[in-house]
Formats: sequence, C-alpha cells, structure tokens
Amino acid sequence: MARILIVDDAKFMRMTLSTILTKANHEIVGEAENGREAVKLSKELSPDLVIMDITMPEMSGLDAVKELKKEQSDSKIIMCSAMGQQKMVVESIEAGAKDFIVKPFDESRVLEAVNRVLN
Ligand SMILES: [Mg+2]
Repeated sequence: MARILIVDDAKFMRMTLSTILTKANHEIVGEAENGREAVKLSKELSPDLVIMDITMPEMSGLDAVKELKKEQSDSKIIMCSAMGQQKMVVESIEAGAKDFIVKPFDESRVLEAVNRVLN
C-alpha cells in the first residue's frame, strides 16, 4: 500500500485513477489539477508516488517534474500521457520521472507501473 498524489486537470481522469488505485489498497492522499498545486501538495504531503498528467493549465506536468526534482530529488513520479506526447514523455523521463502510463488507462498497466516504481 502506498500514499499517492494524483495530478490531472480532468476530474474524470482523477476519478478513474483513484478508483483503480484504491481498489488495489493504495491511499489517495491528495489530488491536484495543475503542476503548481502538485508541487505545493507534494511538499506538504510527501507522497510515496505522484501520478502526473502532462498537459495542464498554469504549470505543465513536465515543468512540475523539473520543479519537484529540484526540491525533492527522491520523488517518485509516473507521467500520464495521451497520444502524440512522446516527446514530452521522453523529456519528463530525462527530468526524473520514473515511468509513464498512456490514456485511456488500462487498470492492469496502471498497477504494473505503480508496483514497478514503488519496488
Ligand atoms: Mg490534461
């Protein structure tokens, strides 16, 4: 069981992830809808894992990864990407994200990535 922060500007996506993760006995410690909130909440909550959307208003997931890694270099982050975002995914991994999952979410793939990153 891990303490997880979910970050996505789409409420439906946060709900989908939350359902998948709580069913697998993980705890959702917070939700953020942009990169800036994600950085703030991550500092406050020190989650075991952050699941981060890429395209969001105010601050993108990529910029949030860079910011988080500057201040909490041991943060574990999984990116959520949509089709056609390969370049952003590669940049996020270079910036320190550990893995990525692709929308629409497949339950077993989400849990596989989460377990891999946590172990
Ligand atoms: Mg988005």
